[in-house]
Amino acid sequence: MAIKLKQLDGGTMDLPSEALQSFKTAFKGGVLSAEDPDYEETRKVWNAMIDRRPGLVARCTGTADVVQAVRFARQHGLLSSVRGGGHNIAGLAVCEGGLMIDMSLLRGVWVDPLRHTALAQAGCTLADVDRETQLHGLAAVLGFVSATGIAGLTVGGGFGYLTRRHGWTCDNLVSMEVVTADGQVLHASADAHADLFWALRGGSGNFGIVTSFEYRLHPVGPEILGGAIAWQGDEAVQVLEAYRAFSAAAPRELTSVAVLRIAPPAPWLPKEVHGKPIVAIFVCHSGQIEDGDALLAPLRATGRPIADIVTRRPYVQMQSLLDATQPKGRRYYWKSHYLPGIDRPFIDLVVAHAARIASPHSALLMFQIQGALNELPAGHSPAGNRDAAYVLNIAGSWEKPEDDGANMQWARDCFEATRAFSTGGTYINFLTEEEGRDRVEAAYGRTNLDRLATLKQHYDPENFFRHTKNVSG
Ligand SMILES: Cc1cc2nc3c(=O)[nH]c(=O)nc-3n(C[C@H](O)[C@H](O)[C@H](O)COP(=O)(O)OP(=O)(O)OC[C@H]3O[C@@H](n4cnc5c(N)ncnc54)[C@H](O)[C@@H]3O)c2cc1C
Repeated sequence: MAIKLKQLDGGTMDLPSEALQSFKTAFKGGVLSAEDPDYEETRKVWNAMIDRRPGLVARCTGTADVVQAVRFARQHGLLSSVRGGGHNIAGLAVCEGGLMIDMSLLRGVWVDPLRHTALAQAGCTLADVDRETQLHGLAAVLGFVSATGIAGLTVGGGFGYLTRRHGWTCDNLVSMEVVTADGQVLHASADAHADLFWALRGGSGNFGIVTSFEYRLHPVGPEILGGAIAWQGDEAVQVLEAYRAFSAAAPRELTSVAVLRIAPPAPWLPKEVHGKPIVAIFVCHSGQIEDGDALLAPLRATGRPIADIVTRRPYVQMQSLLDATQPKGRRYYWKSHYLPGIDRPFIDLVVAHAARIASPHSALLMFQIQGALNELPAGHSPAGNRDAAYVLNIAGSWEKPEDDGANMQWARDCFEATRAFSTGGTYINFLTEEEGRDRVEAAYGRTNLDRLATLKQHYDPENFFRHTKNVSG
């Protein structure tokens, strides 16, 4: 029986069963359609707001499968999407009715402890990479939540606890293996296909399917000083003022994240505050552990902390400390700005918006990223935004579709109110489904976006990789 599939031009085709059969013969991994038992779990992504049903899912087992999937899609003019960890807020990993090229089974990591590099397959989560690199006391620059996919994070830029020391994740790439829109397998680095290497360091999924990333690693841990300190919400202004001074003075080994939210029923928070507003500062000091307590003293002396779980702990544990707040399957809607700094009027605004939070799962987060990334020129990679010091993420999160309106409105209101405090830039990986061309330009800047559009014309003239935050001119 023929299967209906969505095409690049927006139409649909009936794929004859012989064509599907010959693809299945050439492809080593599983090819799933709606009636397969694994289909439902594979098509679902982290954000439950995204409910798309691909016509087929090609579960790749290696580079040869990726090439087969691209050739099959090209031959039949199919709409395609690429899935890594499935964590993109806009749900770019899954296309309606087309072919989802699923990389999530490819999770090998090989560490070279002498060269301080790791080769990681594109289906890895952050946890997969941290686990292997930490065996050697090394770490890649990755993000804050361990279930996130490395692929989407890295090709979009990437930031985490080590960004202040070493820049964007993509600033730490040595090379990548990539399958391009014409089915070629290329090795991109500073010395080979340098323009493609440039484009893939922030240009997101527009240029090809990366099958493996080679990261430069850095000595970290295996233990660091890290955790969180929390205060009641009525001390938020005072605490954020202290955070402003503390983070401005902190060495690059010390990264902190300020969070305003309703206290979850977490064991580290006293029962009396559960369900009430709190402010928390997450910290990770990856320098000399002995220096950490003196650095943290001003924070600890601020107001009346209600919890303090900053302690010596494994770096891999620090990397998953925020995981429980971001489970797969909730409804999520984010708005985000890069900030050049934090001042008192901004603090007053975010505290006022935190008081209007519409869900116990939502949060306002400020990540400090200032440091190494600011030292590179604007055109070093499309990730750009070399003037950013903090990321503001207005992170709406709730459970029921009937609450969509109130939660999205809360995030939009806060976004508009804080716009004047932004650098004007934003993070491509935090853009939601409806954010279009103007926000893509805000993420890259005009010059980088023009260069991306030119390279897109060269590497993907037919815009095969269109289920992305698109950079075509
Ligand atoms: C809970 C949570 C926490 C986060 N924390 C951070 C953080 O700390 N730091 C940070 O920088 N970002 C963070 N992000 C954002 C994250 O970087 C993006 O969501 C990113 O898209 C996730 O990558 P993924 O592989 O899981 O995405 P997917 O949803 O699988 O893919 C997203 C898009 O990435 C591209 N892509 C995926 N795989 C490939 C590939 N192999 N080759 C080429 N392109 C590919 C495709 O365009 C795809 O459509 C977080 C996201 C979530 C949900």
